Amino acid sequence: MAIKQFKTESKRLLDLMANSIYTNKDIFLRELISNASDALDKRHYMALTDTTITEGDPEIKLSVDRASRTFTISDNGIGMDKEDLENNLGTIARSGSYEFMNELENKKDVDIIGQFGVGFYSAFMVADHIEVLSRKVNGDKAYLWTSNGEEGYEIKVASKEEAGTVITLHIKEDTDEVKYSKYLSSDEIQMLVKKYSDYIRYPIKMDVEVVKATEEEGKTKTEIKEETVNAMTPLWKKAKKDITQDEYDDFYMQNYYDYNKPLKTLHYSVEGNTSYTALLYIPAKAPYNYYTTDYKLGLKLYSKGVFIKNEAKELVSDHYKFIRGLIDSDDLSLNISRELLQQDHQMEAIRKSVDKRIKNTLEKMMKDEFDTYKGFFKEFGAQLKYGAYENYGQNKDELVDLLIFKSSNDDDYTSLKDYVSRMKEDQKDIYYAVGDSIEKIKEMPQIERVLDKGYEVLYFLENVDEFMATVLRDYDGHNFKSVNKGDLDLETEEEKEKIEKENTENKDILKTIKDALDGEVKEVRLSSRLKSHPVCLVSGENDISIEMEKFLNETNQGAGIKANKILEINPDHELFKAIKNAYDKKEDISDIAKVLYDQALLIAGLEIKDPVAYTKAISDLMIKAINK
Ligand code: ADP
Repeated sequence: MAIKQFKTESKRLLDLMANSIYTNKDIFLRELISNASDALDKRHYMALTDTTITEGDPEIKLSVDRASRTFTISDNGIGMDKEDLENNLGTIARSGSYEFMNELENKKDVDIIGQFGVGFYSAFMVADHIEVLSRKVNGDKAYLWTSNGEEGYEIKVASKEEAGTVITLHIKEDTDEVKYSKYLSSDEIQMLVKKYSDYIRYPIKMDVEVVKATEEEGKTKTEIKEETVNAMTPLWKKAKKDITQDEYDDFYMQNYYDYNKPLKTLHYSVEGNTSYTALLYIPAKAPYNYYTTDYKLGLKLYSKGVFIKNEAKELVSDHYKFIRGLIDSDDLSLNISRELLQQDHQMEAIRKSVDKRIKNTLEKMMKDEFDTYKGFFKEFGAQLKYGAYENYGQNKDELVDLLIFKSSNDDDYTSLKDYVSRMKEDQKDIYYAVGDSIEKIKEMPQIERVLDKGYEVLYFLENVDEFMATVLRDYDGHNFKSVNKGDLDLETEEEKEKIEKENTENKDILKTIKDALDGEVKEVRLSSRLKSHPVCLVSGENDISIEMEKFLNETNQGAGIKANKILEINPDHELFKAIKNAYDKKEDISDIAKVLYDQALLIAGLEIKDPVAYTKAISDLMIKAINK
């Protein structure tokens, strides 16, 4: 039978495995045991839901043979048929593997690599030839998959009585650097099982040498005896006081393929109508694909210690989908289909309870460890903001107090509650400014007056922020107000009257400027918004903002969408006075109007329509000024 080629990605990974610079080759054992345990879970679950499936005594067996340099792991789990072998062992199954490859290729940090779940292929770190003999439960044939991990693999019909899988690794010859022979020592293997796989809930059995005394004095004999080498208690079933943070961390890193320790661990049990135990983690870093549709929820469901499913979406609300870990409930009935399970109201009860725990944990972190919370928020804050505005703000009450924003109060993060507590007596609204960076926001002409009044301004640095504010509309009765939109309502009655009067008096010049701009702006007006700057652009109170225009066009969502722009001019600025002078002397001010508008565009971070014309106009003005 012809050798089948590995898929390209698999080849890359295999190549990296075989020539791995990574020293912790031990992890292959954890990966193979974890696969065996999954296979036993699957068979157990099938047996519960399908009466034609039987279950033997589930177990995992390990053995070593020095003479033939082989290490063998077998399980009586679900097994694989030809197609499974082809699909599962011919391609990379895990998304974590891609990350692993990238890390390896960039050789960023060799030590962290061991934390990735790299799956079955990791066995090629220690073996130069692998045989997988498998028979699927209820299958009529057994198959043998073999490969040297280089070009490809072969699958042929074989014989095996019982359902399950036997994997034989032909261990590599020792080199100067690596003593591969240690994987042929039962003591060594036993130690590794203890280290990495102690909590696996199925017995991991192994032939161990037991030294016994004989009747003859001073003489001992060695007997081979099969022993269960793991403790078999899942970590989450142990008492909290018996678990160290290191153990929690290891469990997380091994199971969720993260090389960062978790930020927070939640381990608790709930008794009541629906009892459950939860072991939950808040990750320290968002996975690289977190904000994409590729991200998969890392929450598992167990029932009475038996794995039921990955990605248990019904157990946590979407806005907390960064949570990882597992829920183990004794009250769920297993003899129903997964579809029915999803609708179960018990799930709903668990979800509410889990949501609440997460919220409480975050609130506490915010209160007691604000720095840690800031770290969390940098990674997952956008998620909470989306959550707050999604579905027309349906979850706003749940989430709004978990949000923090940088603000003009020391440029540090603040909650909305704290912002409100610092509001000035005469301040009605919550002010925000949208921009790419704090530096840019601080340079915005519009912000000066607001800060001058002693009002705090929230810095909206993320695209989601302004959408969120638009949907939430207010916090605690205070409207969110953009410093570059509509009427800021900062003036006293007299000031208002004054500016109104000035606008009326200058009606003609403002109209001339507007006409010169040829439909580019909705309005040209004098404004008291500005202090030291001559011009700025704002948008109408209820219109699409200039920032949203930028965002929509950058992300190609709203090709061609334009904000309604209003050009505001500072009547007290020397520049306006000069233009007015020229206008009164019947000079043509249309070129100056265009320059003025282009400057406002530049300050707002928008592109100007005709840079060549702009530069020419500026040059002409400079020549005039110099020759004067
Ligand atoms: P992962 O376990 O993340 O899916 P692996 O590369 O370790 O990735 O394994 C690929 C697939 O091969 C598994 O998802 C499983 O379907 C199958 N598999 C591996 N080992 C066994 C086994 N002992 N019994 C049954 N199926 C197995």
